[in-house]
Amino acid sequence: MNMDFLQKELQDIDALGLRRSLKILEGPQGRSVSIDGRQVSNFCSNDYLGLAGDRRIRLAAIRTIEEYGFGSGASRLICGNMGPHEQLEEELAAFKGTESALAYSSGYMANTGIIPALMDRHAAVFSDKLNHASIIDGIILSRARLLRYPHLDMQALEGMLKTCPAGGRKLIVTDTVFSMDGDRAPLKEIVGLGRRYGALVMVDEAHAFGVLGEHGGGLAEELGIVHDVDIQMGTLSKAAGCFGAYVCGTKILREYLINKSRSFIYTTGMPPALAGAARAAVQIIRLDGSLRRRLQANSDHLHERLKAMGFDVMGSTTPIIPILVKDPAAAKAMSLRLLEQGMLVQAIRPPTVPTGTSRLRLTVTAGHDREDLDRLLAAFRGL
Ligand SMILES: *Cc1c(COP(=O)(O)O)cnc(C)c1O
Repeated sequence: MNMDFLQKELQDIDALGLRRSLKILEGPQGRSVSIDGRQVSNFCSNDYLGLAGDRRIRLAAIRTIEEYGFGSGASRLICGNMGPHEQLEEELAAFKGTESALAYSSGYMANTGIIPALMDRHAAVFSDKLNHASIIDGIILSRARLLRYPHLDMQALEGMLKTCPAGGRKLIVTDTVFSMDGDRAPLKEIVGLGRRYGALVMVDEAHAFGVLGEHGGGLAEELGIVHDVDIQMGTLSKAAGCFGAYVCGTKILREYLINKSRSFIYTTGMPPALAGAARAAVQIIRLDGSLRRRLQANSDHLHERLKAMGFDVMGSTTPIIPILVKDPAAAKAMSLRLLEQGMLVQAIRPPTVPTGTSRLRLTVTAGHDREDLDRLLAAFRGL
C-alpha cells in the first residue's frame, strides 16, 4: 500500500480552510513572543499567571537537576520514584485540601489513565459535549458506555441519569472551565445529581487551577465543594507554567490508581526537575494572590471593552475569551490580520470546536499590562 492518502487528506483539509501548521517561538513564552524574527503581543497562551518563564521556577528546576540529574530512569513503580515526585504530591494534596495526590506526566495522560482505571465496559460515563478531547479518549479506552449531554444542560443530564439502568458503575465527568469557550460548569448541580443518582463525579480543572478560588485551587474551591468531588484532576501545564498533571482525592484513590492506571504504570516517571519546578509553582500560586488579582483585573477589562464593541464572547466568564466568527476561513483571515498588527490570536476551527462555531480565542494573563490590552483592543476595532 502506498501513502498517497496522506497528501490527499491534507488537500481535503486545506480545501475546507482547516489546514493547521506550527509556528516557531524564538524565545521564551511570555506576554510578548518572537515569531519570524518579529516581536508580537501574545494572546493565546495558557500561561495565565505568567509563570512559564518565572525566575523562581527556573531556579527550582536547576536546583533539582543539580541534585537529581535529568531523567528519572524508569517508571515510578520500578525505580523512577524520587523525592521530588513525592514532595510535589504532598504539596498538591495540602494545597487542594485532599488526603492525597498523584502526579501524571501530562493532562492528556491523566485523563486517559484515570477514567479507564475506574470504569469498565459495564459502566456508564456522562460527559459534557464540550469536554476536552483527552476526556473523550479516556472514556473510549475504558469501553464504558458514553452518554454525552448537551453543553451545561443539567435537565438533559438528569434525564440520562434517570433512564440509565441501575447496576454498573456511573461517572459524571466535566471540565470546570471549558477550554474553548471560557464558561464554567454548574458544578454544585452536578455534584447534587451525582449524589442523587449514585454516580461518581470527576472534574478536570485544567483551566481553573491557579485561576479560580480564593487560593487558586480551582472551581471546586471557589464553590466550597472540594470534599464533594470524588476525583479532582488538573494540569500543571497552564497557570502553573510547567508540565504534567495531578489527580487529588482520597488515599485509597491514589493507591488504586498506582496499581491500576496504565498511563501511570507504563511510562517513565516525570523528570524530577519537572516535579521540583511544579512544586515551586504550586507554592507561588498558594502564597502570591497578587498574580491572580492582576489576571482578574485584566480579564474584566477585556470582557467589558469587547462586549461594549459588540463582539459575541459566547458566555465566557474567565480569562479565556472566545470571539464567535462562525466561518473557519473568516476566523483564519481575522487571525492573520491581527498578526499583521503584531497581535498573536489563534483562530480555533473544527474539529477542535463544533462546525459553524469557528472563533478567535483570546487568552489574557497576569503578565499583560494595560498598554498591551489597549493595543489589542485598537487592533480589534480595526477588524
Ligand atoms: C490542556 C487540557 C488538558 C491536557 O493537559 P496537558 O497537560 O496539556 O496534556 C486536559 N484537559 C483540559 C480541559 C485541557 O484544557
